[in-house]
Amino acid sequence: MINLTWKLYEGMQHKWKERAQKEKDTVRTRYRGGNSGILMEDGTAVGECPKKALARYLGKYTDPDYDTQLMFDVGELNEDRWEDYLTRAGVDVKKADDAIKWHTDAGTPVTGSPDALIYEDGKPVMGIEHKHASSMNTARGVIGGEPQLKHLIQTAHYSMALDDLPFTLLYTSSTNIEGAEWKMKDANIPKPGQPRSEFCEYTYYKYTGQTRTYKTGKNKGKTIHLKQKVMTNFLEDSDLSPGEIMKKYDADFADLKYFRPFAIEFPTTWKEDTFYFYNGAKWIKTIITKDRIKAFYNELDRMQAAKDLGPVPYNLKPDGEPMPWPHENYCEMCQMSEKLNHKYDDWVNHLELEGDKG
Ligand code: SF4
Repeated sequence: MINLTWKLYEGMQHKWKERAQKEKDTVRTRYRGGNSGILMEDGTAVGECPKKALARYLGKYTDPDYDTQLMFDVGELNEDRWEDYLTRAGVDVKKADDAIKWHTDAGTPVTGSPDALIYEDGKPVMGIEHKHASSMNTARGVIGGEPQLKHLIQTAHYSMALDDLPFTLLYTSSTNIEGAEWKMKDANIPKPGQPRSEFCEYTYYKYTGQTRTYKTGKNKGKTIHLKQKVMTNFLEDSDLSPGEIMKKYDADFADLKYFRPFAIEFPTTWKEDTFYFYNGAKWIKTIITKDRIKAFYNELDRMQAAKDLGPVPYNLKPDGEPMPWPHENYCEMCQMSEKLNHKYDDWVNHLELEGDKG
């Protein structure tokens, strides 16, 4: 018998080798659209980390590990299935490898590959930036009507580089997603009947009319209204929306059980060089502007010229509100510059050695 799981890993290693070779061939030739960020007027970086974007330019490339590759694969398969379904539906859609190219003020090329372009009469009329949502955090934001800022920045970048071509940021999830209880009670999760509640599976409850007052423990003295679970009819209710189920059973409230697989699109547009997205109800203004995208890439040139490691990035929401987790939660590269005492030349030399291993 052929050991298939081992063959999977062997095949992956071939893929990594090919990719690493491609990376080597493009060292110090271009900044990448996949590293899109914005630089605010006060020098704050948002979205991508300038150090990571510069490291990629300088040849720092690490193979993904086995788990990460399996996740990347789902993203690629998702793009293929969209192309297949849209084509079957009569849409002229194609992948758009290296479709964008522009230059920073200092003349460094910036290139990128939007996931897909849609054509009419041979001309591109719309772009798609695909994201496959597999985590609770992403699903919670998307179903709550809020795409991730870094995804919006990448979408805005591609649209800007293609003469403001309208782009849609398209999230697809292929599995039921549930998470920690506090995440399931997030205020942004739609209630039955609200937009995108059709992607939520709920448990429905009714109050019994009785109360209970705690006599002991930390809730001593607290009175609660007793509730009972509503027994819905799975077969009869399968065509009903969550709002209709609430009405049918006269339920008082519902708790999220899990998110169903979904496809949710966020159309985007530019208004006076500021980027907006449509959340299903209204257009939302973001902190993304064309100048800030260009400033981010100009900053990479400045960092090299000044031998400076640049600003740390901030995690923000699309409207500029801070996110609760810091950049270093998802990246360990800085620990390397800590080790090298923030000396630019040492950092670059170290990166080149690392890159050579790729
Ligand atoms: S830890 Fe933060 S500042 Fe350092 S390289 Fe990673 S993202 Fe950038």
